Amino acid sequence: MKALVYHGPGQRGWDTVDDPTILDPTDAVVRIDTSTICGTDLHILKGDVPETTPGTVLGHEAVGTVQEVGAGVSTVAPGDRVLMSCVSSCGRCRYCKEARYGQCLGGGGWIFGHLINGLQAEYARVPFADNSVYKVPEQLTDEQVLFLADILPTSFEVGVLNGMVSPGDTVAIVGAGPIGLAAILTARLYTPGRIVAIDLADSRLQSARRFGADTTINNGSEDAVARVMELTDGLGADVAFEAVGVPQTFELAAELIRPGGRVANIGVHGQSAQLHLEKLWIRDVTITTGLVDTFSIPQLMRLISSGRLDPSLFATHRFALGDTMSAYDTFADAANTNALKVVLQGANANSPTAEAERTAVVA
Ligand SMILES: [Zn+2]
Ligand SMILES: [Zn+2]
Repeated sequence: MKALVYHGPGQRGWDTVDDPTILDPTDAVVRIDTSTICGTDLHILKGDVPETTPGTVLGHEAVGTVQEVGAGVSTVAPGDRVLMSCVSSCGRCRYCKEARYGQCLGGGGWIFGHLINGLQAEYARVPFADNSVYKVPEQLTDEQVLFLADILPTSFEVGVLNGMVSPGDTVAIVGAGPIGLAAILTARLYTPGRIVAIDLADSRLQSARRFGADTTINNGSEDAVARVMELTDGLGADVAFEAVGVPQTFELAAELIRPGGRVANIGVHGQSAQLHLEKLWIRDVTITTGLVDTFSIPQLMRLISSGRLDPSLFATHRFALGDTMSAYDTFADAANTNALKVVLQGANANSPTAEAERTAVVA
């Protein structure tokens, strides 16, 4: 089969590799119909994730069709269309029993395209299939559920739920990339009073308005703290999300918060940030961090089914799975291409307009 293989920092190829097979009785082999690329894949390609070794197939977000299951799999069968979560769950360890699958001790957690071969490929071996894949309702297209593999549950669980967004809240979101935009979509489920998006790029702020931000602030040209104070009678935001993953944005989120408010860190950090405990302790501020567990996938999928949540806005570019190399170029150059998520479509992608749109993008 063909797959996107990591060959060490800065190097990737669309290579012919061995077809995956069942190794453990709890495995399934799935044909990948629709996949996508994540900012984390770009971090791996930069060499920021040393646990990922050269030769690994990348990708941790996909929808596919089960081809084969091991003897220990009983809830999915060949022919089922399934969403694969970025986080796998052994279903047996202490953390899995608490629905904290991201911390799985039994060989799960974030493994796809990280510790084992991933999902930017024609086929994939999927461990712990009973606990780690979700059947897709027939009326939904691959693309409608694809972003449930990672960015929607990440922003919902680590942002909205950890930050305890409540009706009427002023929610400030620092960073309007895909994760910040997903935080806007999922925060809206709780009817906040106002959503404020903060970013350095006007194009991303434009997307933020499209996703439902009420106020946008370019903190390259405006004082974000002063604007948020002005909007909140000098108190600050009820909830602030950090959705970038650099020290400055975390420190800004902590400055935006009102006494008694909540800072929810969603970004993936590689460096230490300043924690101004001397200013925060007396203000009753709560700070949360987290890795996604994806326990909310079934709940979010029901919202998509009933038309209350529509993540299809994320799909800005579509490529045939065989063009994954060009899709990476487009995604990595988001500043110029305005790519949010690039959709990779296999020959069997379940999207009624897949072929027409693919042609349109190419034209
Ligand atoms: Zn991801
Ligand atoms: Zn586990």
